[in-house]
Amino acid sequence: MTELDTMSLAERIGRCASICYKSEAKLTDAASAEGLADKMVKSKHNSTLEMAPVTMSFEIEEGDLNLPEGVKHHPIILDLFETCPKYLVIDSLGEGKYLISSTVRGFREFVMEHPESELGWIMAAELRPSGLFNDIITHESGLPIDVLARRLSLDEIDKLPTKLHLRHRQVTVKFVVNRAVTHEIVRHRPPSYLQESQRYCRYDKEQFGSEVTFIKPMFFAEGTEEYALWVKAMEETERIYLKLLETSSAQAARTVLPNSCKTELIMQANLVEWEHFFHMRCSEAAEPSMREVTIPLRDEFRKMFPQHSFDRRMPEGWVEQ
Ligand SMILES: Cc1cc2nc3c(=O)[nH]c(=O)nc-3n(C[C@H](O)[C@H](O)[C@H](O)COP(=O)(O)OP(=O)(O)OC[C@H]3O[C@@H](n4cnc5c(N)ncnc54)[C@H](O)[C@@H]3O)c2cc1C
Repeated sequence: MTELDTMSLAERIGRCASICYKSEAKLTDAASAEGLADKMVKSKHNSTLEMAPVTMSFEIEEGDLNLPEGVKHHPIILDLFETCPKYLVIDSLGEGKYLISSTVRGFREFVMEHPESELGWIMAAELRPSGLFNDIITHESGLPIDVLARRLSLDEIDKLPTKLHLRHRQVTVKFVVNRAVTHEIVRHRPPSYLQESQRYCRYDKEQFGSEVTFIKPMFFAEGTEEYALWVKAMEETERIYLKLLETSSAQAARTVLPNSCKTELIMQANLVEWEHFFHMRCSEAAEPSMREVTIPLRDEFRKMFPQHSFDRRMPEGWVEQ
């Protein structure tokens, strides 16, 4: 979803959140998407806030870097490490310089959970103009040293050396697949996800036009007996689902929906995780309808980032079984 990359953090969150409700058409301009992002913050629909990736650089002024022999990091950085941040990717570039990547959610929750970390407040101050930190109590950093903190542009991230690029470059992809494939995709834990909600989308209304959309399975060729059976099952399921909606909520009626149901899913991860994902999900052992989308997707990644192979690199000397 490269179109997201030119948007503000708030607009990006709003546009992604609308996928859950299939309400994209209601977001007529950037302001309406930003308004939806604000609602997401207030309603604690927190995974939408993961759809805005951020990379910050920190630089401790040279004059403040007189560290005792054998000490590699300034105490404010050691304080940060001591919190063992789970959702921040941190790299030391040497000479008091650091790169920290996460998402709006990662930075918000870091500040809320570790108010003692002065670096957290510096990050929040940098990100406050996004409007997505207004509910977090402001605090002026009382750091006795000079730290230059800055958000990196996508262009700067794309110019990072290979290893840093893999760790700090995040990519967002929208899949339109069946519910069995989305169920497998979301087993990968490091990425962030948003998906079309069968609790909120009523397929008997508005843009859905009173029909359920199914994905044709690649397993049954049209014209075969198996394909005819599949069509029969889907038509019957749709009829029952629409009947249930006459007296029940969408969350109740969805209990009859099958694996073939069309689902939109957004997945966002850094390139290290995408590489792992392709390793697992393009292999011959993977489910064929998964490979139907992952193999062409890996080709797209290779075109977009020719410097990376997206083949899994094993540590030197290791032989994969
Ligand atoms: C062919 C195939 C068949 C499968 N069959 C089944 C099945 O029958 N039943 C089933 O339940 N699942 C099945 N799976 C799912 C599989 O077990 C994984 O859950 C899924 O592929 C996610 O991948 P992952 O765990 O390697 O890594 P991810 O979740 O993508 O994590 C990436 C990396 O993060 C690290 N990591 C993340 N979380 C942890 C953690 N909690 N502890 C330690 N390290 C962590 C690991 O280094 C991991 O390599 C199958 C997958 C495939 C590809």
